[in-house]
Amino acid sequence: MITNTSELLLQLQQFESEIFPRSIAVGEVPWFCCIEGSVPVLVSAPHACRHMRDGVEKMSEEFTAALAKQVAGLTGCHAIYTRYKSDEDPNWVTLGAYKSRVAELVLQHGIRFVIDLHGMTNRHHMGVALGTMHGRACRHFDVIAPFTRHGFEVVSADAVPPPLELIDGVPLPPGVGAEQHRQSVVTDHPRFTGGLRNHTVTRFAVEQLGISAVQVEIASVNRIVFRAAVSDWPYEYCGSAEGITATVNALIALVNR
Ligand SMILES: [Zn+2]
Repeated sequence: MITNTSELLLQLQQFESEIFPRSIAVGEVPWFCCIEGSVPVLVSAPHACRHMRDGVEKMSEEFTAALAKQVAGLTGCHAIYTRYKSDEDPNWVTLGAYKSRVAELVLQHGIRFVIDLHGMTNRHHMGVALGTMHGRACRHFDVIAPFTRHGFEVVSADAVPPPLELIDGVPLPPGVGAEQHRQSVVTDHPRFTGGLRNHTVTRFAVEQLGISAVQVEIASVNRIVFRAAVSDWPYEYCGSAEGITATVNALIALVNR
């Protein structure tokens, strides 16, 4: 368990500064990269950078690459994450470059479990949303326990209020709705099931590779160390140091499980 919060946050910021979410990779540089480990678990962050889905550019899910890299470093598991903007949405296409690399890593290293990290905004009133494809991807208990051990509280999907709406397409300040729900962990919320309809990385691991997986959607408050304001998301923001530390510790416990 990591208790030195300031060191952990500094390392996350350092890792996040090593990816380029708004830039296209130049020349032969790949838009995603891997860290090979020795523990047979893969932490994935397919939306760490901007990506195209059906012709629309989607926002990056900040600090998910940094979290993947940090958890890999602290546990010895494998990681894969995007480093540059991509034309492919790895969590949407049936098979692309990213999923092919996931398959290779799984085969090469005998990986048995995939933890696919994503970022949701605070407007969903959840701290963490776990997608298990209603138990087809993994057992609920196995993925919830690491979070409750680190201070999260189980909330039923039915008890989650509807998300706060965008106003005229303008995003809400990221702090709105954050504190109250920061510690909640929800399983298989209808919006975040892990891939009952879509071709997610989680579903690919389960259906094509025959291993267990979980999709972990992390609210901004539990992952963003610092973000400067940008034109299309005009708010400077810092998440909760306590929430980010609890999330990292829960992910480490999930890998070690
Ligand atoms: Zn995502």
